[in-house]
Amino acid sequence: MFAALSSLGTCPRGERAQRPTIATLCTLGALAPRTTAGAGDPSLRERLVSRVRATLSQRADPAAPRRPHLHARDRLAPMAIDLSLTEEQQHIQDAVRSFVDERVLPVAVQNDMEHKLDMSLIDGMRELGILGAPIPTEWGGAGLDFIAEALICEEIERGEAALRTLISVHVGLNSLSLLGNANDEQKERWLRPQATGEKLACFGLTEPDAGSDVAAMKTTAIKQGDGTYVLNGEKSWISFGTTADHALVFAKTDPAAAHKGISAFVVDLKHDEGVSTQLYDHKLGVWAGDTSSLFFSDARLPADRLIGAEGEGFKIAMYSLDHGRFTVAAGAVGVIRACLEASTKYANERETMGKKIGTHQFVQDFIAQMAADYEMSRLLVWKAAWAKNAGVRNTRETSLAKWIATEAAFRSAHNALQIHGAMGFDEETGIARFFRNSRAPIIYEGTTQIHKMMQAEHALGWRELNGKGAPADLHRSLAPVGA
Ligand SMILES: Cc1cc2nc3c(=O)[nH]c(=O)nc-3n(C[C@H](O)[C@H](O)[C@H](O)COP(=O)(O)OP(=O)(O)OC[C@H]3O[C@@H](n4cnc5c(N)ncnc54)[C@H](O)[C@@H]3O)c2cc1C
Repeated sequence: MFAALSSLGTCPRGERAQRPTIATLCTLGALAPRTTAGAGDPSLRERLVSRVRATLSQRADPAAPRRPHLHARDRLAPMAIDLSLTEEQQHIQDAVRSFVDERVLPVAVQNDMEHKLDMSLIDGMRELGILGAPIPTEWGGAGLDFIAEALICEEIERGEAALRTLISVHVGLNSLSLLGNANDEQKERWLRPQATGEKLACFGLTEPDAGSDVAAMKTTAIKQGDGTYVLNGEKSWISFGTTADHALVFAKTDPAAAHKGISAFVVDLKHDEGVSTQLYDHKLGVWAGDTSSLFFSDARLPADRLIGAEGEGFKIAMYSLDHGRFTVAAGAVGVIRACLEASTKYANERETMGKKIGTHQFVQDFIAQMAADYEMSRLLVWKAAWAKNAGVRNTRETSLAKWIATEAAFRSAHNALQIHGAMGFDEETGIARFFRNSRAPIIYEGTTQIHKMMQAEHALGWRELNGKGAPADLHRSLAPVGA
């Protein structure tokens, strides 16, 4: 597979034979040992292992110089125009790419057609540290930066949309939100097992009558005399709602109020009384994933399930979406790459009118568009990652990346299907899967129309997406966190 990718000229570095396998990456503290075969040459492997160890020991030493990471504003200047990946980021990219090539892609079409959520692949993600990648090591995660997180999402969605969806809800919308908003006791109880992958988590915001209009939610959490909350209502279209152990659920603690009446709660989906779930059986895509409704019927939540203060739920939901949307955008980059790789391969093989179809200018137009969409989308994602690494609020950049990358991914899947002709219409070719799966990201975590509205209102000066007084252009000056 690596050789095939190299021959398409799509891999960022040339020497595929020198890539470490997942086994080599197991020497990273975050990665658990795996039994799959390593790269052939043992001396090469030893050299790679010692390089990874050197990277890690440097990271472990607080006095050692580090590359820019969270809250490293003052180190951004030299990185501002440096788009090269660090050695550690390359190792992570290699490990996840190998995982997708060796384990995800060989079963992807079959799982999709059988509507099978493949838990063995989620186990593999857990072993690699993917389920807690950007969570600090002190809370059980791998402590990786957001460029690394983007690379992981790109590689994973190149293989399977349902698995990237899990990263979006488990890591992006839930765990990173707990990291930013929960107290230490709550982090210990809920975040740590999520970061290690021992427990899976989802995010319950949408309701049958409240999607884009979050403040219209009807679910209530009414405080009782003993300090507990009684939760009633329904959440719809919740990714991994039936599979997850924990949910971050939003409900009105003050039903008479709009945004300011919303609060955020952790719900233990497997143990709390009065909680039930139901899978959606008939949906356009993400067949290898779980999309469910959550039902709450007098579910009693202890007071310590409240995240943040009462009335802060809307703010927490928007904070969560800044992280979730980032993973959606990064995954969309992987869809574009998958479509580009499949299309260039097919266009170099298939002949019509005595020529390879890649020589026809209409086909070249599709391929050129995909190549441009890949670069543009990835640059927008990396800019958002750069801001996240600096600890700078990035609602505008992340919204822009999500809008542009998800639309580009669907366009790429549409054009890849056209390049494949009737073969694209055949589920077994795998292109139809990308076409169906890339449609939902244009709807969830803010529809394209909502993102266009946000961008226009920001540009018009009616809304400051990165907070009051934040600069319109992050490249000119950096706003402090929470501005
Ligand atoms: C596969 C899938 C997985 C999902 N996973 C989750 C999940 O894990 N957790 C969760 O909470 N939700 C999830 N959702 C729900 C998703 O976030 C909502 O569907 C989305 O927010 C849109 O809401 P809606 O469907 O109610 O559409 P509506 O808000 O009713 O919008 C309908 C149409 O009106 C347009 N529109 C609405 N308001 C405006 C406006 N002000 N200006 C211009 N146009 C507007 C929209 O763009 C859209 O075209 C998922 C959805 C899908 C399809």
